[in-house]
Amino acid sequence: EKVITSGPGDEQKKHDAALRPKLLKEVIGQRKVAERLEIAVRASKKLNEPLGHILFDGPPGLGKTTFATVLPNELGTSLQMTSGPALAKPADLLPFLTNLEEGSVLFIDEIHRMPRVVEEFIYPAMEDFRIDIVLGEGMSARTISMTLKRFTLIGATTRSGMLSGPMRDRFKMHEHLEFYSVDELATIATVNAAKLNTPITSQASLELARRSRGTPRVANSRLHWTRSFAAAQHDGTITEEVARAALDMAEVDRDGLDKNDRKYLETLIDLYGGGPTGVEALAATINLASDTLSDEIEPYLLREQYITRSPRGRVAMPRAYSALGKLPPAPKPK
Ligand code: ADP
Repeated sequence: EKVITSGPGDEQKKHDAALRPKLLKEVIGQRKVAERLEIAVRASKKLNEPLGHILFDGPPGLGKTTFATVLPNELGTSLQMTSGPALAKPADLLPFLTNLEEGSVLFIDEIHRMPRVVEEFIYPAMEDFRIDIVLGEGMSARTISMTLKRFTLIGATTRSGMLSGPMRDRFKMHEHLEFYSVDELATIATVNAAKLNTPITSQASLELARRSRGTPRVANSRLHWTRSFAAAQHDGTITEEVARAALDMAEVDRDGLDKNDRKYLETLIDLYGGGPTGVEALAATINLASDTLSDEIEPYLLREQYITRSPRGRVAMPRAYSALGKLPPAPKPK
């Protein structure tokens, strides 16, 4: 397998790569998505056609890159990886397009951050496996058309709403990834502890799973920390007691909320009276990028009903108050 990477977030990606499933059957959870992809892979092989372009969307750490790396393994083809922010101009795409092999996969992470000019440049590549290159300038400029190998574009986005309509329409499959159940995350913790040669009890896996924000990447990083903690403070085995102590020390609370989650809820409740408050105001107060809030922090808080979204902004729900050990405000008299 050939992997070419460029762009920001590479360190995280390398860290993720070690524990990433290699084949569809090793992917835990997301069964419906995995089953549809299995069908698509089988069809592509039987029909001898490249897999149709696929768009994955969902919050960070739920497996978009994992699916993108598993598919070329299933197809027996090569993979190239890049990201929207790394593709500032059409020429930045050229090395990837000229390196394509018949049926190979080009993965573009954060595809919603690709500039419009690059988007337009990629349309004919997606539709007809061809690109139009403009040579020269002004009167003497001419366009040459270049034929590409038939390939599969896999896009990943945390915000499918920010993708342009024409771009979205050019993907044959749209797969939305949802948060994982506690049981699924416990399986991931057990499987990955084995990969790291670390003994773990099933109760400890469940404890990690309950405190991982429904997210495999979070489960993996909590596992890494707990493993270090078990090695340093105990005999290396992760028991439920060890997992609890390790996560308490990491300031992950019993519901799995971390420091940023609590900071968010505290700010919303203490400074803004529980909202409604705009995300920009919250971001400025917490001193985090508003993208971080809306892409990484809020999706889980929304799904678990700590907060809700109203037309005028974010609003704290009763669960947010109890998570912080506060009483919710008395309902306003009618
Ligand atoms: P995304 O691209 O959506 O941000 P990744 O695909 O990079 O997320 O997933 C982050 C990490 O979580 C990966 O390294 C992988 O080990 C793990 N992971 C994600 N989804 C699964 C899954 N379904 N089964 C097992 N591990 C998973």
